[in-house]
Amino acid sequence: MFSFFDTKIEFLKGVGPQKAALINKELNIFTFGELIQHYPFRYEDRTQFFKINELTEDLEHVQIVAKIRSAETIGEGQRKRLVATIFDETGEMELTWFKGIQYVVKKLVPGIPFVFFGKPNKYGRKFSIAHPEMEALSAAQEEKSFFQPVYPTTEKLRSRFLDSKGISKIMEGLVTAAFPQIQETLPGEVLQRFNLIPKKDAVKEIHFPENPEVLKRAIFRLKFEEFFFMQLRLLKLKLTRTEKSQGQILNQTELLNVFYKEHIPFELTEAQKRVVREAYADMKSGKQMNRLIQGDVGSGKTMVAFICILIAISSGAQACLMAPTEILANQHYAGLKEYADLMGLNIALLTGSTKKSARKVIHESLLSGELPILIGTHALLEDIVQFRNLGMAIVDEQHRFGVAQRAKLWAKNPRFIPHVLVMTATPIPRTLAMTLYGDLEISVIDELPVGRKPIQTVHRYDKDRLKVFGFIRKQILEGRQVYIVYPLIEESETLDLKNLMDGFESICRAFPEFPVSIVHGKMKPQDKNFEMQRFVKGETKIMVATTVIEVGVNVQNASVMVIENAERFGLSQLHQLRGRVGRGADQSYCLLMTKYELSKDSRIRLETMVRTNNGFEIADVDLKLRGPGDLMGTQQSGLMDLLIADLSKDAPILTMARDAAQLLLQEDPDLSQPRSAMVLRQIRSQKKHEINWSRIS
Ligand code: ADP
Ligand code: MG
Repeated sequence: MFSFFDTKIEFLKGVGPQKAALINKELNIFTFGELIQHYPFRYEDRTQFFKINELTEDLEHVQIVAKIRSAETIGEGQRKRLVATIFDETGEMELTWFKGIQYVVKKLVPGIPFVFFGKPNKYGRKFSIAHPEMEALSAAQEEKSFFQPVYPTTEKLRSRFLDSKGISKIMEGLVTAAFPQIQETLPGEVLQRFNLIPKKDAVKEIHFPENPEVLKRAIFRLKFEEFFFMQLRLLKLKLTRTEKSQGQILNQTELLNVFYKEHIPFELTEAQKRVVREAYADMKSGKQMNRLIQGDVGSGKTMVAFICILIAISSGAQACLMAPTEILANQHYAGLKEYADLMGLNIALLTGSTKKSARKVIHESLLSGELPILIGTHALLEDIVQFRNLGMAIVDEQHRFGVAQRAKLWAKNPRFIPHVLVMTATPIPRTLAMTLYGDLEISVIDELPVGRKPIQTVHRYDKDRLKVFGFIRKQILEGRQVYIVYPLIEESETLDLKNLMDGFESICRAFPEFPVSIVHGKMKPQDKNFEMQRFVKGETKIMVATTVIEVGVNVQNASVMVIENAERFGLSQLHQLRGRVGRGADQSYCLLMTKYELSKDSRIRLETMVRTNNGFEIADVDLKLRGPGDLMGTQQSGLMDLLIADLSKDAPILTMARDAAQLLLQEDPDLSQPRSAMVLRQIRSQKKHEINWSRIS
């Protein structure tokens, strides 16, 4: 059904085909419906005026009434600029323009009062504003709105008079025309319970607020709505799945009992026990499990996985574990093979470098059921890999896998979708987990095995390098091993490699007495593996590497992690890297090396690392610094396409909206009652623009 909001923007007053084309291209906005959701990103208080002698440097934006004294163009070529001197009764200051000089110069009429608006900066003793907005005082006085909306725009649009003000003009026409057409999307009881203003009013007020209080309520209402529909969709998905997808009943525990009595090398932590219980409850429920296990690095997720594998096998099913890299898959294989051997269970490894002949054997024994456990990389997703009865699929380090790949796993068992356990060491704040994994159950291992000494983290500047080297030497002489990690610079792999190689050489020179390994992404898998193994066996004392060692790698004797150019790493990545040490009984250390000059964000990251070992705390800071989309990488960002709500700041609204969505689904699971009609209509209209999951991987 065609609605008013599907109308192309070229039919809007003041737009037309040419401007419309530009807006399509620059803002990806095509219809009335999309344009009306182009919300201001801030508002300027135009009720306040400053005198020139009241200016300070920390003022964001100021509005000044002043007259023009003089204006001249100075400099040549690139440095050419227009400088105007303005004055009021308290003093004088400058205005500067680098572009559009010819156009501006005509507007600078001396003697009449103008309103200037912009960010003041201090040069020497004088204040200056670059590219101020300006308007004759008489025109400015006609402005009706207290709060001027500021719209996102682009350089190209600005040059075609579609600056914030231009957009605001168009928006005025649109909002007026659209107002009678805007339909309520939330049920009356939700509006009442959460004290929300009607949709209509919210849209009008967010563009043209009457006063700050109403603006606040408009923003709240629109954020709430956005979260509400997002959560409704996720909860509905979950509901459909638990209703529809039957699960294989995996409720036998003989193997587990034997393992637990005779072979388990340590007592499980309370948190591990709890998570095993949660998973087991799902596995024997007859419904398919989709559970995320969050646990900080070193919290012992692998053992939980193995226990689930044992339950699956006892119950007559097969299990697989998929890791994101070959190194990790190798390591899981090596670790789990020890346990499997103790239990007399067959286990195999399948990666990109598995030989053809070995592959064939694996394929056959999976089909016949002789092989109960398969460990591997993406290679095990290939269609040719078929099981007799895959009952349990475990995915390590989920954030590297997409939804599409999860779906491929599901297809591995035509009778029952396998139970899925996803393990991640990236602690995700609750708000984010609710969004990203809203359709998964969540278990948290929030406890480390006893006897771990907290890693000591320090921040050192490059000039302290000699001292750092002295520390490294001392640790190695005491029998420890050391990681030295270099950042990956995405834009330039060659620069990246050179950086690493230079580092490697200087380490070899500094420590001629110790064997040094090097591992990076450009090496062949076999070579990488070979070097890793040398380090694992203790033959080399220092491992120089890029972030390929980021996830999972486990060398208990390695107790020192040196991170070079630590300012270049994200916070969660630093935390992941640090998690490579602190796995044995010895005191471990993490040394963050940086240059002296650091941005504010870099400082916060480093201070956070030094202050805490708690992954959840770190994730919270990270979320605040980077925003959620970035935190999870582009993989899942489809879900993060929030227009106005912000996962890092609006957690309380998210929780309310989720409650509301849950309540509605409880009372009306199919959304078939009359009071849900508006909700259903909104979902349908959103569906038209829905993201295509199969394209996200
Ligand atoms: P992660 O959660 O990071 O994957 P791992 O499963 O690799 O952690 O476990 C880290 C280390 O801790 C391993 O060497 C493992 O054997 C050990 N471990 C796991 N659980 C316990 C426990 N309950 N008590 C003692 N050590 C444990
Ligand atoms: Mg692990």
